[in-house]
Amino acid sequence: MRSTFEPELIELAELVRSRGAELFVVGGHVRNTLLGLPISDTDVTSRLRPDEVTSLCRGAGYTVVPKGAAFGMVEVHIGGKVYEHTTFRSDTYAEGGAHRPESVSFSETPEEDAFRRDFSVNALYAGVLSGAITDPTGGLRDIDRRLIRTTTADPEAILRDDGLRIMRLCRFAAELGFDIDESTFAAAKKCAPLLADVSAERVRDELGKILMADVKYGLPAEESVLRGLHLLDETGALDVILPELARCRGVAQSPKFHRYPVLEHIFRTTAMAKPDLVLRLGCLFHDAAKPVMLERQGNMHGHDVEGELIAREALRRLRFDNASSEAAVWLVRYHMYDLDGNAKEPTLKRRFVSWGRERVLALADIRDADFRGSVGERIEVKSSDRWRRVLAEMEEKHTPFSERELNCTGADVMRWLELPPGPKVGEVKAALLAHCAVRPQDNTPEKLRRIAKDTVGR
Ligand code: ATP
Ligand code: MG
Repeated sequence: MRSTFEPELIELAELVRSRGAELFVVGGHVRNTLLGLPISDTDVTSRLRPDEVTSLCRGAGYTVVPKGAAFGMVEVHIGGKVYEHTTFRSDTYAEGGAHRPESVSFSETPEEDAFRRDFSVNALYAGVLSGAITDPTGGLRDIDRRLIRTTTADPEAILRDDGLRIMRLCRFAAELGFDIDESTFAAAKKCAPLLADVSAERVRDELGKILMADVKYGLPAEESVLRGLHLLDETGALDVILPELARCRGVAQSPKFHRYPVLEHIFRTTAMAKPDLVLRLGCLFHDAAKPVMLERQGNMHGHDVEGELIAREALRRLRFDNASSEAAVWLVRYHMYDLDGNAKEPTLKRRFVSWGRERVLALADIRDADFRGSVGERIEVKSSDRWRRVLAEMEEKHTPFSERELNCTGADVMRWLELPPGPKVGEVKAALLAHCAVRPQDNTPEKLRRIAKDTVGR
């Protein structure tokens, strides 16, 4: 594999060799090179201890950033390239799946190091100078078979040590389109409850990757995102990380509009949506309140209003950032708007101005996904098509979408109407904006003055 290694990496390997050690590339870089897939980062490993790597590299003039030196990790920067060096080690974990090694002992060979890694295809070592591959756990064979399998013959031992590995299992299978080894899968089902011990941030990041699994290597969303979601469901991980969605499993809905029960519809909607994390999070929760409503009142009406609360709570629990959460929650709240596409055009236009362009387009996208997720096909959707057409027409006519885009200021309004500063000024401006949503040609100072006087006169 040597030909694929860049000069900076070879430089680092030669430095490591000057201490009598061998530098290996490990993890995604080796796996993806063998698969002919793009590489996101380069993890390197050797028997040198973190402090040795640090002094060696600093001595050579490289920048070294400690990254959890207790676990043996340091980041080496060479001429714009970044390598995460981890010392060979074997870990002992505490009870529970929280991934806090009780003790870390450094070891001398890749053969020892391999068994603390999660999956065989992630435990392949390529010698940077020799180009030779060391494969202590049968990863080469699994790459050939396109199979995710734990590094040890006892998969439970691996998955038990860190509950997040169950989500990583689903994620790698989804991104790569690999099958999952039978006993690995059985162990995942058994260990899924341990995900409760994993920090919300780690769960959030892994969930985000599953929701965007099609983007990673370009597989169709049905084969990657949808599959990843199914795997979360089948392993039981979903019950732990998103119990509000697990409640939707198998909940039947009207066959007149729906081909699938609620959870399956949610999954399909999410996979059918454009690859945007906020949009897909909105899809994930858009119908989450259906079982609650059904139980409470015997039908699903109002699931958009209740869904807003469920989505906000779940996204907060998983520590998604506020801006993304609120944008996704907003989509849940309004995903039923103008379902049939029969809203009157002036009504639509005033709504669009109050929402803003970005939200209108996102709402159109979630509507498309929702309908496609109901029938399971990429159909044209009447309402969202019309919304986009109306929005484009508004833009063509230079419709103001905010008070800043009105051709008058608050001072103008006060002068025209002899008003003191106060809430009234804001009300008039809002009325002017709503007026221009439908009649953008009136957005001139003279016309706005006349309309302002009429508005107040009324
Ligand atoms: P990607 O292409 O997504 O970066 P990767 O396999 O390189 O995939 P990383 O998360 O970068 O994944 O981790 C690098 C390597 O470290 C993995 O291949 C694996 O060997 C090991 N590893 C990372 N996280 C874990 C974990 N939670 N448990 C066990 N081994 C892990
Ligand atoms: Mg990596």
